[in-house]
Amino acid sequence: MAKETIQSIKGTKDILPDQSHGWQALKVIIRSTMNNYGYKEIRTPAFERTELFSRGVGEETDIVSKEMYSWTDQGGEKLTLKPDLTAPVVRAFIQHNFREQSPINKLYYIDTLFRRERPQKGRYRQFHQFGIEAFGSENPEIDAEVIAVALAVLNNLGLEGLTLKLNSIGSPECRSLYRKTIRSYLKPYLNDLSGISQRRFEKNPLRILDTKIPHEIEILNDIPNVSDSWTPEDKAHFEELKSLLDAMDIQYSLAPRLVRGLDYYTRTTFEITSSALGAQDALCGGGRYDGLVKTLGGKATPGIGFAAGMERILLAMGNFDSNINNTQLYIVGLGDTVRPVVVKLAEDLRQNNIRTNFDSLRRSLKAQMREANKAGARYAILIGDQELESGEAELKDLSTGDQEKIALDKLVDHINSLSF
Ligand code: AMP
Repeated sequence: MAKETIQSIKGTKDILPDQSHGWQALKVIIRSTMNNYGYKEIRTPAFERTELFSRGVGEETDIVSKEMYSWTDQGGEKLTLKPDLTAPVVRAFIQHNFREQSPINKLYYIDTLFRRERPQKGRYRQFHQFGIEAFGSENPEIDAEVIAVALAVLNNLGLEGLTLKLNSIGSPECRSLYRKTIRSYLKPYLNDLSGISQRRFEKNPLRILDTKIPHEIEILNDIPNVSDSWTPEDKAHFEELKSLLDAMDIQYSLAPRLVRGLDYYTRTTFEITSSALGAQDALCGGGRYDGLVKTLGGKATPGIGFAAGMERILLAMGNFDSNINNTQLYIVGLGDTVRPVVVKLAEDLRQNNIRTNFDSLRRSLKAQMREANKAGARYAILIGDQELESGEAELKDLSTGDQEKIALDKLVDHINSLSF
C-alpha cells in the first residue's frame, strides 16, 4: 500500500516557482525605496525569548495570549517563533547600543512571522512583512517620513485604490484620561459586552475599540473621540503632522477610532488599506511607540514604524508579468558526441549572463524544440554531429523563425551582440 503523502501545515503556503518572481520584484522595490529614504536593513533571528514578546507586544494582546508558537527547549529556555518584528528590532537596538552611536537610527526589515490565527484569504500562520523603525526623533517630520516610505513602496509597486487612515492616540496623560472616558461611557453596557471586552474593560479599555463584534461596534457608536482627551502638545503634534503631509501632497482620511491599545504606543497611528482586497483589506499598520525602548530595558528613546503584509500586497497586485526570469537561449543538442560541446557552451553563455538551458533527458529534436518554446527562449542553438564536423552551429531566432550558421568558436561573441 502506498504511504500517505505529507502535506504542508494549515495556514502555511509554498511559494511556487511561478509565484516567486512576484516576491523577487517586491523585494527589489522595497530595497530600492528604502535606499532612497536612507533606511538600512536589519535582520534578527527567527526565534527569541518568549519574554521579549510578552513584554514587547503585551500579555493582553491576541498575539501573545493565544497566537504564539512557543516551546521550552532542551535547556529549559522558553522560546517563541517571532510573531512580531518590532520587539526583536528594539531588542537589537538596545543590545548593540545604537542610541550611543547615532541620535537617529533608521532601520528596515523584510522578514517571516508566525501567528496561530484562523487561516483565511489574506490571513496565514506563517507570513511575511516588511517594515521600518525610526528611532530618536519625537518630531512630526519623522512621522511624515515613515508614512511616506510606506506609501512610496506601495505606489512604486503600482498599487491603486489606497487609503491612508490617520489618528493620534495622544500622550500617556491623554490616554489615562481617555481610559476613564471609555470606562464611564461603557459602564452601563458592561453586561452586553463579550467576555474578552469585559476583561479589557478592567485591564486595557482602549483595546475594546478594536472590536470586530457588530453589536459592540454599535454600542461604541457615540463614544467620545480620543481627540477630546489630547493635551495641547498632542494636538500641536498632530496638526503639524497633517500640515507636513499636506505639503507632501499625501492625502489621508481621519480615523478617530484607530487605536493601538498598548501602553507604550503614543500619538500617531496609521493604517493603509486597499480597495482591491476583501475583508482583510489592511496592507500596512504603523504608529509611534515612544515608550517601547524603555519598556524593553533601554534608555527612553522615541520611535515610530510600520509593518506591511507582503502576502496581502501581492494579492492586491494581482498577476505579475512572469517573463523576467525566463530562459533566453536553449541549446538543442543531438547525439552522444556533442554532449561535451553543449555543456561547455551552456557554461560559457551563463558566465556571460545569458539565461541558458539545455536538455538533460536526451530527447528528440522535436521534443527539445518544444521545450525551448515552452521555456520562453528567444533563441535556440542547434548542434548535431554534422555541425560538430563542419564547425558551425545553427542559430535560430524563435520569434521570427530566421536561422543562420555561426562558427562554433564565434558563438558566444555573436550571441553577446544580440538583443534579447
Ligand atoms: P500587524 O503586525 O498585526 O500590525 O499587521 C501588519 C500587517 O501585516 C497587516 O496590515 C497585514 O497586511 C499583515 N498581516 C497581519 N497578520 C497577518 C496574517 N496572519 N497573515 C497575513 N498577513 C498578515
